[in-house]
Amino acid sequence: MRLTLLFVLALFACEGGAPAPSAAPAAPPAPAHAPAHAPADIQPGSHADWCGEHAVPESQCTRCDAALIPAFQATGDWCAEHGLPESQCLQCNPDLKIERPPKEG
Ligand SMILES: [Zn+2]
Ligand SMILES: [Zn+2]
Repeated sequence: MRLTLLFVLALFACEGGAPAPSAAPAAPPAPAHAPAHAPADIQPGSHADWCGEHAVPESQCTRCDAALIPAFQATGDWCAEHGLPESQCLQCNPDLKIERPPKEG
């Protein structure tokens, strides 16, 4: 009967004590303020396509996604000195203004 006793104890251990977390949430609830980074499935060029951390469209943010860099380099839009697309390099282009697209609707 030792096995049965262990089984009962195991059950008790699971249900007693600190409240067991129910199914762990897959993701934390969305924050009330705008997230710093856009989700991956965002429409490029939309209001939501914006990297709040680097103040450029998320779909063109080479600092968040290094895989974008070759595409900029291929078009010659690349500042090797600062490691940024020339079109995003405020150090070379202090007057540059990258505006967030307006919210639709
Ligand atoms: Zn970024
Ligand atoms: Zn530069």
